[in-house]
Amino acid sequence: HSEEIKNRFETVIKEKGIEDKVTVNLVGCFGFCSQGPFVKIYPEDTLYRMVKIEDVDEIVETDLLDNKIVERLLYVEPTTNEKKIKQDDILFYKKQRRVALHGCGVINPEDINEALGMGGYQGLKRALTMTRQEVIDEVLKAGLRGRGGGGFPSGKKWQFAYNQDSDEKYVVCNGDEGDPGAFMDRSILEGNPLAVIEGMVIAGYAIGASNGYFYVRAEYPTALKRLRIAIKQAEELGLLGNHILGTSFSFRCHIRLGAGAFVCGEETALLHSIEGKRGMPRPRPPFPAVSGLWGKPTIVNNVETLACVPFILREGSEEFAKVGTENSKGTKVFALGGNVNNVGLVEVPMGTTLRELIFDIGGGIPNGKKFKAIQTGGPSGGCLTEEYLDEPIDFDNLVAKGSMMGSGGAIVMDEDTCMVDVAKFYLEFICDESCGKCTPCRIGTKRMLEILTKITEGKGEMSDLDELEELSETVQTNSLCALGQTSANPVNSTLQHFRDEYIAHIVDKK
Ligand code: SF4
Repeated sequence: HSEEIKNRFETVIKEKGIEDKVTVNLVGCFGFCSQGPFVKIYPEDTLYRMVKIEDVDEIVETDLLDNKIVERLLYVEPTTNEKKIKQDDILFYKKQRRVALHGCGVINPEDINEALGMGGYQGLKRALTMTRQEVIDEVLKAGLRGRGGGGFPSGKKWQFAYNQDSDEKYVVCNGDEGDPGAFMDRSILEGNPLAVIEGMVIAGYAIGASNGYFYVRAEYPTALKRLRIAIKQAEELGLLGNHILGTSFSFRCHIRLGAGAFVCGEETALLHSIEGKRGMPRPRPPFPAVSGLWGKPTIVNNVETLACVPFILREGSEEFAKVGTENSKGTKVFALGGNVNNVGLVEVPMGTTLRELIFDIGGGIPNGKKFKAIQTGGPSGGCLTEEYLDEPIDFDNLVAKGSMMGSGGAIVMDEDTCMVDVAKFYLEFICDESCGKCTPCRIGTKRMLEILTKITEGKGEMSDLDELEELSETVQTNSLCALGQTSANPVNSTLQHFRDEYIAHIVDKK
């Protein structure tokens, strides 16, 4: 749809004879999905929402020709009477801070010069003037933790790989985003692929690798297309390949496609998949930083983590660590969805409260309904209720409150949501995605799903709740990988906060 709007703009602009004065660019995600497609006019910063093809003539006529504003198309929040609004004045954007999403929704991701114009490769340029250890120290000082879900300090991972003595090392970018409702990595790759490439090259320089692999889901064709274009353009400009930026450092990027298996987001399964084997996890240790791809030291960082790295090297670790909480520095991208007015992609400082995320940025619950819960962390996470709304979002606090950050899925639920159905939905997903390697996960999740199905069909017994809890304990403590170990979280958190709903299904037999 956006392509068609862009084509129409180009046609009308040509008809009006102003093609020398106006450039039309297709950019990445603006983040505000529920109000798209957007058109932004520079230099005025005027933002148009929900643009249709039939609006294009009017926008050109009244905004580009006479510099007037099309009032009915402007995004005006109920709290303001301003006619002309800048993006940063909209509450949805006001509380956000763009680090990983730098350049997304601003640059044309298929033109490397635009990324370079926004500070692209400045981080790498600085890194190449430093020793490898200094680069690692900078990332350690920034306090960057893995944005894919684990929250492990990225600098430590790099240090482990750096310390290994090996003729070959690898950097792998995990773009196998699979949580239901999550699209953070996809939007970053579609919006500013060069930033992720730059992050990978800096990581490669730091640990002493000369090859990097992007592992991206095949279901992300636009992200893949733009990533391929960015790699090719970077190679043509000497920003990838031999003697990067005239130094002795050489690095090449390769792409591998994921075939849609959720378990391949687990780093050892992902590495097996790149090697051409079946994507199944293996026990750790050895950790990939010691023995990873083809037995060589390998660091696996997710897309958002790598997208933060250029900022740290360009602006400095202190600037990165300025925002956030004591143990979770920087920002986090969330895919905000479900029963919330402003569905979209948001990047907020760590420490932002759930209330700010849902009610200020998210605009609250539609149709005057009451908030019931927010599920963070996808199928591995848990539900947080109203009593947690003023809790700051960071890696450790969400775990302490019974959920987790995960990769950034945030699904809001209103008062009409059945929480037993929610638990069942996530368990169905896990059952489908279990690789079957270990018995607790393969059989345990299936038995749990059978009990949940029985309860939702009105055939449950009170003893089923005890059995659910026993099974969840077994699956959690005995599964091989995080997929199984966290699979019972949605069941546990709904049992903890909404046990009455389970009992109502059992007692009322409905
Ligand atoms: Fe496979 Fe589940 Fe075992 Fe992980 S926990 S290895 S997904 S069966």
